[in-house]
Amino acid sequence: MADRPALDEDARARGRELALEARRRRAEIKRFLADGGSVREVIAMRDHDPAVARMKARDLVEACPGIGPTRAGRILAQCRVAESRRLRGLGEHQVSALISALEGAGPERGRLLVLSGPSGVGKSSVVAQLRAQRPDLVFSVSATTRAPRAGEVDGVHYRFVDHPGFESMIARGQLLEWAEFAGQLYGTPAEPVEEALAAGKDVLLEIELQGARQVRDSAPGAIRVFLAPPSWEVLVERLQGRRTESAEVIERRLATARVELAAEGEFDHTVVNASVEEAAAAILGLLDQAAPVAAP
Ligand code: 5GP
Repeated sequence: MADRPALDEDARARGRELALEARRRRAEIKRFLADGGSVREVIAMRDHDPAVARMKARDLVEACPGIGPTRAGRILAQCRVAESRRLRGLGEHQVSALISALEGAGPERGRLLVLSGPSGVGKSSVVAQLRAQRPDLVFSVSATTRAPRAGEVDGVHYRFVDHPGFESMIARGQLLEWAEFAGQLYGTPAEPVEEALAAGKDVLLEIELQGARQVRDSAPGAIRVFLAPPSWEVLVERLQGRRTESAEVIERRLATARVELAAEGEFDHTVVNASVEEAAAAILGLLDQAAPVAAP
């Protein structure tokens, strides 16, 4: 192999120095953006600052406060900017789209996840797993007229109310959705859900089918997941094994479950509950891909 000219070593050292300098400069720009600095100003610097010119558009977007990788991907797609595009390669339209998307961004609203499925499919276990894995997920506490089961705490598992109390919530428009299930009333109080979404928190509703249908109309951006049993036999076994209800109640729930299973196709996604951990992981994957729900 021929000897490299001595000059090459110097050139390489200089190259390394320049690269280091450019990285330092980009880190500075990112801090400026994270502190609320103007996106417009940064993009304008590309004309005289080579480090800024070589900065990736994705890095610029992700450096803005409150923007994580998923949201950054959505903003780039919405502004028609390729993932690998550098600031020097942005066209005029892309620049103005990015500026308006980022300067008007504000805190992102949360996402609404609706989990439904037949009685006995294991919704509560999956919900417990979801909450353990994602403690910042807000679980909507439903109002219900049914009596508390052993271990259920008012305000934690449900808000236990009497019939007149529930009816006054309906009359005042305080429920996002409500339904009658196995002879009792169940409903989602609207205000806590809206407050959490507005604060950028993701919200989980664990509700039955009629309620899920109402949410489809009242919150079109919600992501609706149907939790299915591995088979009908497994579902019957689980319902009979619970032994917290009378034979008559179990029979009624099985009849409802048959109808509910037939509604699977109305949902955005089906997740089979073969194992609680896998079902929860699949649901979180769906949640992470979802877009925020629009303001009412
Ligand atoms: P359980 O009595 O076993 O706690 O709940 C019975 C059914 O009511 C379950 O399918 C549960 O998902 C549903 N449910 C619980 N809360 C609500 C609610 O706020 N709205 C609706 N529509 N269904 C609910």
